[in-house]
Amino acid sequence: AAKADGRGIHRFYREELLHGAKSRRQMEDDLRVALAQGQLHVAYQPVVSTRDECIVGYEALVRWTHPVRGPISPAEFIPVAEECGLIESIGEWVMRTACADAASWPREVRVAVNVSPIQFANPALPTVIASALSRSGIAPQRLEIELTEGIFLQENNASDRMFQSLKGLGVRLALDDFGTGYSSLGYLKKAPFDKIKIDQSFVRGATMPDTRNAAIIKAIVTLADTLGMETTAEGVEIQDEIALIRSLGCSHIQGYVYGRPASTGEVAAQLASSGGRAQPIGFKNSRAP
Ligand code: C2E
Ligand code: MG
Ligand code: MG
Ligand code: MG
Repeated sequence: AAKADGRGIHRFYREELLHGAKSRRQMEDDLRVALAQGQLHVAYQPVVSTRDECIVGYEALVRWTHPVRGPISPAEFIPVAEECGLIESIGEWVMRTACADAASWPREVRVAVNVSPIQFANPALPTVIASALSRSGIAPQRLEIELTEGIFLQENNASDRMFQSLKGLGVRLALDDFGTGYSSLGYLKKAPFDKIKIDQSFVRGATMPDTRNAAIIKAIVTLADTLGMETTAEGVEIQDEIALIRSLGCSHIQGYVYGRPASTGEVAAQLASSGGRAQPIGFKNSRAP
């Protein structure tokens, strides 16, 4: 029976592959249209100081509302954009939009922008950033570039040169999703990061007594402190985690507990109403099982 099934399974996979490739092609085409027709927008999520609960900045997160499919997650369309070469134009558009939006915020409030390893490998990146800065008029120190460990897959000399150019612009650098990728401590030695963002997977469950997450967070914070880097705990969802993250020494918190990614209108209201202070959201005090 297994043999008889074999052909059927083979045909099934072939059709799946064809279908997969087709829907990917479709998404590429749709993304091109999306960029041209303004279907993309940027949402902003607050980054909060553990010391005084002040909002120190916002992370820019791209959003796509597909005319037929509705909202599509960047976790789904960014990899497609990276594969088909559209990430350069999408990344440039996000960079310009985020800097322009930040120009209307108080001067001490930063903006963080995610930059794909593909953009990082392109020598044109510093020019793209410099142009977004000068068009918007924001100070370079207000812009934080978020990079993932994927950037270290490229040749050493090229990435060293890119780090130099970016630092030369005066922008801040953050290492995103730390602990999930090709983490090597050697990278931290060479790369001039101002901040390490501790991945959500370590934060999730950190308050539970039987997990090792708190120990791992503590170790990352100790390392970052020694190297003079800030730390942001990502994905903090519940109030109990705020106290724990603070006690572990993280300098910043980002997560639903202080706000989901929101529109520029909501950001303006948030900054105005609270005098720049974040309010933990009280609706949720434990994680869903
Ligand atoms: P990331 O840079 O690590 O961004 C953080 C993600 O965690 C965001 O997902 C955010 O909405 C989500 N998040 C924040 N707080 C919480 C929380 O408390 N709980 C949970 N469950 N999630 C939380 P989002 O917006 O879906 O973005 C996913 C990823 O897509 C980003 O991860 C980033 O890698 C990528 N991305 C988003 N925007 C851009 C962009 O403009 N350019 C590039 N290259 N990548 C982007
Ligand atoms: Mg990020
Ligand atoms: Mg992250
Ligand atoms: Mg991530």
